[in-house]
Order: sequence, then C-alpha cells, then structure tokens
Amino acid sequence: MNELKPIPLSTPVFEELEKKHLLEALHQKQIATSGEFIEKFESVIKNRFSGFETAVLNSGTSAIHLALKLLGVGNGDEVMCQSLTFCATANPVIYLGATPIFVDSEAETWNICPEILERGIWDRISKGKKPKAIISVDLFGMPAKYNEILAISEKYEIPVIEDSAEAMGSTYHGRLCGTWGAFGIFSFNGNKIISTGGGGALLSSNTALIDKARYLAVQARENYKYYVHKEVGYNYRMNNISAAIGLAQISKLDQKISLRRKVYENYYHLLKELPGISFIDEPKGCFSNRWLSAILIDEKIFGSSNEDVRIALLNEKIESRYLWKPLHTQPSFEGCPFYEGGYSEKLFSQGLCLPSSEDLTEDDQSRIVEIIKNL
Ligand SMILES: *Cc1c(COP(=O)(O)O)cnc(C)c1O
Repeated sequence: MNELKPIPLSTPVFEELEKKHLLEALHQKQIATSGEFIEKFESVIKNRFSGFETAVLNSGTSAIHLALKLLGVGNGDEVMCQSLTFCATANPVIYLGATPIFVDSEAETWNICPEILERGIWDRISKGKKPKAIISVDLFGMPAKYNEILAISEKYEIPVIEDSAEAMGSTYHGRLCGTWGAFGIFSFNGNKIISTGGGGALLSSNTALIDKARYLAVQARENYKYYVHKEVGYNYRMNNISAAIGLAQISKLDQKISLRRKVYENYYHLLKELPGISFIDEPKGCFSNRWLSAILIDEKIFGSSNEDVRIALLNEKIESRYLWKPLHTQPSFEGCPFYEGGYSEKLFSQGLCLPSSEDLTEDDQSRIVEIIKNL
C-alpha cells in the first residue's frame, strides 16, 4: 500500500550536539534550575544579541509576564497590544489585572500599525488613562516598524516590549529583533525556530532589571541561610536540561534561518504566478527569519478559500494553519477596546501558514505546491 507521508507545519531538528549536551546534564545530575548550561546559554545569547543581558525562563509567556511586571504594570492599568498574534502576547496583561488595548496591523509587515497605535494612545490619554506599555510582535519572523514605533514610544514616554517569540535572528535596519524595546522576549517552544522543549528568554540592556527577573523567576528567594521571601515570586526559571538543548540549538541558528528562508523562497517561486495567491515581501530594511511561510488567498480570484486549501492539504496528511485569529475577536478578551484599521481580520480570512520546517524536502514541497495548483 502506498502510505502518504504526513508533513507537519513546523518541527524541531535535533542532532548529535543536543544529545551530547543532554547526556552531560544528566550525568552531572544538573537537571533543575541551576547548572552550567543555563549560564552558558545565557552568555551565548548575550554575545549574540548586542551584549544585552538575558534571563532564560521556562516559556516566552513567562518572559512577557515578567517584562510587564518589571515595568510596573498592575491592577487597572492599560497596555497597548498588537491584536494579530498568539494569545500568549496578551494573556500576561490579564494575569496582572490590567487590560489589553488592541491595535490593528498594517499591510507591509502585518504587525502593529504605528498610525493606529498613536491614535489609540491619544484616545486613551484623552479618556483619562495613559497606557503603561506597548507590546509589538514580530509576526512569523517579520520585524515590526520599529523606527515609527520607537518614535511614538519616546514621544509619549511609554516603554515597548518586543514580543520576538517568532523572530529570533530577524533584523530591522540591521539591528536584531528582541533588542528594540525596553524588553525583548523569545520563545523556544516546540515549533519555534530554535526549541528547548519549552522555554523562553527575556532580554534587556538594563542589567539590574534582568537580575531582578532572575530573582523573581526562582520564587523571589533571598540569598539567606534559610528560605526568606520579601515578595511573591514565580516558578519561571529555565531548567538545565532545556538549556542543554538550547545551547546546541542556538549554535545552528544561522543555518536554521537560511533553511527556513529557502523554504519560503521555494514557495514564492512555485506559487507566485498563481492568480489570487500573494506573499508578504520583506519591506525595505526588514530581514525575516521566515519562521513560518504564510500566503494570502483571495478567494474571489483564486476560486478556493484558505479553508478549501487547508482541507485539500489535510486530506493528503499535510498540516497547514490559519494565521493567528485577532485577539480582539477572541471570547477570552471580550470587552477589551480595539483600535481598528480593517486589516487583521482580512489577513485572518485570507491567510494560511504552509509547512515550514527546516528539513522540509523539495519533493515534499512540490507535493504541497501541486495540491494548491490543482485547486
Ligand atoms: C510562541 C509565542 C509566544 C509564547 O511563547 P511560549 O514559549 O509558548 O510561552 C508568545 N508570543 C508569540 C507571538 C508566540 O508565537
């Protein structure tokens, strides 16, 4: 029987180096939240990311939570937040008793629209409350428009948290994603460009704040002969096993980026002539790690919708996925204000992420492309 080979959306790739590090960590019985791999992983990230201090944590969500906490976000505060993103971008705002104020995307990067952001901030201030922070996202690896976003941040004196969970290694005008805001965050979850099983990192040029993050991440334990806690902390630190994998993974980041970019280029060349299918080009100054390759499908021209394509692929055991459903349309965020430009919902209704693993073969990619062409 001719079994169809399943093609997943995005899978991690582990090689000998990961195994070697893992065995070392097990052998040393360093499996919890202290150990040499944690320190090494942090120092490699620091060297790679412009000398920014980093605290490695158990998830990207934890990193966003700590960033908000360190910026003083609390009960009753408001935080401006990109709507077209994964719920993890905004959930920590809710954990802190604050309200996310959602902002629509713009066409070039699909990320937070600077004009709408400014209109929203202005409106919140005129209603009596200045937002405490801005969370931008570098969606699918594409950097947001930081020149404009930082100008707004400075003008209104509102710090930026850069949710770069999907964009490790991407750059905007030559500067790395994750280093644009007061804080940057990465995720090393199972399907991100590098994976530690579960994990994340918080980045900042402010050493004192990163020290504070490390302290909060281990239950705010004081350096004392018995357990003393002057404030309530979290169990958010990365463990040494994850860090062992992470240290191996990050040494191959450049290769992973070039393989993902190649996957995108192939889709682009094979599908760009199809009427009704479009791609997101890199705007001037943007370099995307192309974590996921996404296409837009205009049903009126193409004749089939993104859902039709998804089902056709699924029938052949190929996984594809909608873009993130805008958070202002999610029941869990009902009642949160939204500053609208009409763009994120259009992207959601037309978008589809195609399999983008770094080890996707050209044969598999041709299989995917043929199914789409046949529609
Ligand atoms: C994956 C992701 C996160 C959360 O990271 P976890 O490590 O899964 O907690 C946050 N924001 C975005 C945009 C993501 O894609």
